[in-house]
Amino acid sequence: MSDIFSLSNVRAVITGASRGIGSAIAEEFAKRGASVVLLARSTSEIDLLAETINSNGGRAFARSLDVTDADQVAKIESWASDVLNGPVSVLINNAGIYIPNRFMDYSALEWEHIFDVNVFGAVRMTNAFLPKMIEAGDGKIINMSSTAGKYGSMNQSAYNASKHALVGITRCLALETAAQGIRVNAICPGFVDTDLLTSSALGEILGTDEAGIRSMIDQRTPIGRAVTVSEVAALAVYLASAGGDAMTGIALTLAGGLILI
Ligand code: NAP
Repeated sequence: MSDIFSLSNVRAVITGASRGIGSAIAEEFAKRGASVVLLARSTSEIDLLAETINSNGGRAFARSLDVTDADQVAKIESWASDVLNGPVSVLINNAGIYIPNRFMDYSALEWEHIFDVNVFGAVRMTNAFLPKMIEAGDGKIINMSSTAGKYGSMNQSAYNASKHALVGITRCLALETAAQGIRVNAICPGFVDTDLLTSSALGEILGTDEAGIRSMIDQRTPIGRAVTVSEVAALAVYLASAGGDAMTGIALTLAGGLILI
């Protein structure tokens, strides 16, 4: 009997694969048989991750890519389908930056930078890969949004707006492409234990340190802890697998019971 969660026919591209959620998704996908392209700006971490995956019998290819650089993005589809020996079937728009601030303290540059990475980065990547997916009549796009893409939260309006935009894009693109065999979904994690959360910027705005941030997360999350990167990866596996074929246009919250942050 075939495994409905197998990824053995999947050729996946993952942005922001150098650490945190992206690297966990890459490892889990490779373990389940997917061939993976790992993208991030810094090369050392993705090179090392590709080496680890390949030495464990998987297939991974790393390439430096900044999702804000339209020229780099324009070249990535042909490179990826070349190394993967076929068209990309799953695109994971995971790269993201988090800059917390009070609304009146965000600079215009911060607004632009957040949107350039979190929204237009995903738009550029989707524009690059979608035509070949439509040609193949098969493709899945997974956008890494956030509970910040569904609810309000304090002191991060620019980040929240960018994550709401990703959910809007997900819902609309899913409707436009469902009949062509494309599935588009978003994952909306709550607090996930990665570098993004323990950044000094967040500590500054909350007036606490890393330990303080962690204990605030544990207290505010009904399950009493942050979501793990493996738990986010498991949801991405579901969406990318045949098991998730009927799911499109949905923003799935994975937050340990937390709905407001
Ligand atoms: P992270 O550990 O800070 O990782 C972010 C990733 O994005 C890194 O691989 C980084 O690699 C990459 N990246 C950043 N800017 C980029 C750019 N311009 N071009 C290409 N890659 C870029 O964060 P994370 O927690 O794993 O977050 C992953 C995604 O989940 C983000 O979209 C984030 O908003 C979302 N999310 C996180 C949480 C959480 O609690 N951690 C909750 C909800 C949603 P380089 O720096 O090497 O480029």
